[in-house]
Amino acid sequence: MIVYDLFCSEGHRFEGWFGSSDDYERQRDRGLVSCPQCGCDKVGKAPMAPAVPTKGNSRSDARPKAQMSRGEMPPEVQNALKVLAEAQAKALEKSTWVGDKFAEKARSMHYGETDEAPIHGQATRDEAEDMLAEGISVAPILFPIAPPDELN
Ligand SMILES: [Zn+2]
Repeated sequence: MIVYDLFCSEGHRFEGWFGSSDDYERQRDRGLVSCPQCGCDKVGKAPMAPAVPTKGNSRSDARPKAQMSRGEMPPEVQNALKVLAEAQAKALEKSTWVGDKFAEKARSMHYGETDEAPIHGQATRDEAEDMLAEGISVAPILFPIAPPDELN
């Protein structure tokens, strides 16, 4: 047996029990499925609740989620963000884009194999965590920047 959450064209919601999903479709097509409240036979399945992964899915659970907001930001927030974005742009002017070699370069500077210089680039979350664990001072770029074309 299979139970479906059904609703009619009037918006009444009710449960229907069927032998199988084919059975449900056959009965519905023949007008045998009707709303117990108003008797109308224009019924449909209610949208299923999203499946909740029970186990073996910790990978996607561990994926970091971005914080977002929608709607108008107050002007003081917009101004503050603009000031920060400009400060970041200014700081990065003296810094060299190293693309996805960031972890490699940052590590070699940290261990004295390369001269210290400001750099910025891309690192995976794992690389960033490893670097922080090794005591390498790295920080995320607050405002996404467009990578320079010549390194693509
Ligand atoms: Zn109804």
